[in-house]
Amino acid sequence: MTILYKLAYWAGVIAQIVIRYPYQKVAKTGVKTEQRVSPTENILLVLLTLFSGVIPLVYSVTPWLHFANYALPVWLGVCGLLLLVFSLFVFWRSHFDLKANWSPSLEIRSDHTLVTEGIYRLVRHPMYLSQLLWAIAQILILQNWLAGPLNLLFFILFYFLRSRAEEKMLLDRFGDEYRNYMKTTGGIFPKRKRTEN
Ligand code: SAH
Repeated sequence: MTILYKLAYWAGVIAQIVIRYPYQKVAKTGVKTEQRVSPTENILLVLLTLFSGVIPLVYSVTPWLHFANYALPVWLGVCGLLLLVFSLFVFWRSHFDLKANWSPSLEIRSDHTLVTEGIYRLVRHPMYLSQLLWAIAQILILQNWLAGPLNLLFFILFYFLRSRAEEKMLLDRFGDEYRNYMKTTGGIFPKRKRTEN
């Protein structure tokens, strides 16, 4: 089963790369009117690459980390696989809806538009939601204390830092339009609709 989990994880990584590739090409073009880079965010991005890529790779192809393995029941592993697939769907759908407005770091383009439709109607940060689901799936399918849970820990730190800075940037650019969007739409989880009476 372990080999199947490892293969599924790496198939997921490849799927993420393929989904993102066309948007990455577009993100390099066009004029940027704003770029906000923080050193803390960059450090967290390096740690995320380490704990979602490098350490899982070492765990998958060498026996070096096997001292830190744990074993979960098969049904939990299967939940992990389903969660991984769902995470990829949310990842794809958020790229599809954000289109050229996507960027790897915090940026505003000269032709930037505020997206509030599609999956962005449900949550303001679906791409970060997909990363959260991925990190939970990772704990269930890479059953190793170093290759599994640490990505979630660093992702949570990254999310709080990144989403605050991102919302501040979008408020500076879109003002009341983004303020109203924040009122009606949840951050990483959908808001419960208020019942009108
Ligand atoms: N936080 C979003 C987007 C991540 S990509 C998500 O999780 O889905 C980061 C870039 O997306 C930022 O540079 C920002 O300019 C842009 N962005 C974020 N939300 C946006 C929105 N609703 N409309 C347009 N651009 C947005």
